[in-house]
Amino acid sequence: MSTHEIPLSKPDITSLEIDLVTTALRSGRLSIGPMQEQFEMSLAARVKRDHGVACSSGTAGLHMALLALGIGPGDEVITTPFSFIASSNVILYVGAKPVFVDIDPMSLNMDPSKVEDAITPRTKAILAVETFGNPMHMDAYEQIAARHEIPMVEDCCEALGCSLKGRPAGSFGRVGVFGFYPNKQITTGEGGMVVTDDKRLADICRSLRSQGRPLPSSPVGTSSTSDAPAFGMGGPGVAGHSALGSWLTHERLGYNYRMSELQAALGVGQIRRLDQIVEARQRVAGLYTRQLMDAHELMLPTIDPQAVMSWFVFVLRLSTEYSREERDRVIAALRRHDIGAADYFPCIHLQPFYRERFGYRAGDFPIAESVSARTLAVPFFNTMTEQDVDFVCRTLKLMVDRENIQR
Ligand SMILES: *Cc1c(COP(=O)(O)O)cnc(C)c1O
Repeated sequence: MSTHEIPLSKPDITSLEIDLVTTALRSGRLSIGPMQEQFEMSLAARVKRDHGVACSSGTAGLHMALLALGIGPGDEVITTPFSFIASSNVILYVGAKPVFVDIDPMSLNMDPSKVEDAITPRTKAILAVETFGNPMHMDAYEQIAARHEIPMVEDCCEALGCSLKGRPAGSFGRVGVFGFYPNKQITTGEGGMVVTDDKRLADICRSLRSQGRPLPSSPVGTSSTSDAPAFGMGGPGVAGHSALGSWLTHERLGYNYRMSELQAALGVGQIRRLDQIVEARQRVAGLYTRQLMDAHELMLPTIDPQAVMSWFVFVLRLSTEYSREERDRVIAALRRHDIGAADYFPCIHLQPFYRERFGYRAGDFPIAESVSARTLAVPFFNTMTEQDVDFVCRTLKLMVDRENIQR
């Protein structure tokens, strides 16, 4: 049947990125250099933020954002149970408690009215996720956070290039975090970035990503940024005695969450091509929509008319008469035909670790659970051809019908 494998996702790397990475390699400067700075400035500008802090992953960025906001043990953070697990795990990293609220079945993001109801005196932040890159309700969460005088953290790891009412993902709330794993809209292999207009928060994140080195404004901070290269080529001393003093001063418990120059160079190329990448993704989403619009057993993603999507993934839902087992059989059948498919996302509160630690049970967040039992991600990448989409859709319809007939 199929002549070639159609993967779930595939990075889009051109000679521009390869040349930039080669330039970084030849420069001899492999960490803390000009590529990082360029990547930070171009991405921050793109999402209309004053500061960007590149780091080793989206997870690391979210961890730093919560630390920089001073969230810790005894605090509660409101978030969604329908997401990639990192958005909730980072709340546990800082010793706080994730408080889940159920989703709205259209956008698949948190139901804003339930967010408001979940706020208690212990609530110290709202960590909102643009699930599957859908920015719907981001402005509503922002208003709720402002009303209660708590910060909103935007986990926009799946949403680079999308916007709501003309505002780009990454521009909502106090701080936003992007991720650049290979399946995201742009990739650095591994990587992430914190974006904010708050200079103090950005400075704390710069310190946290580099072993807690002093902020530029602090008395021991003698260099222009906390992680400026006192180690020029990777060895100490090249920038002189005073800089070395600052390099070896650690003001807070920090981490090594830095991004290398090779990763940043890849990011510089990818962000330069972002418009082209978003256009390619919109084209593929359009092909799927046209092919599947009339399939009554499938539900397509619902998009707010005021939103522009950059399409992280293309996730369909089987209609409500289908069970989880039937959905799982459709996924397995697609895979047997060399078509990538996945059950994005199993609910976070029902993951073994969360059940055990917090005592969650099936039924706690019924909408997220019902959606999660019937979602199905299909292959989605920039270079997908019309023939690829045709083949996926024909096979998918066949497999879905077969489950229907066998019932
Ligand atoms: C990808 C992703 C992250 C971060 O992932 P990393 O692999 O750590 O870069 C965080 N939250 C969500 C919702 C994601 O999809």
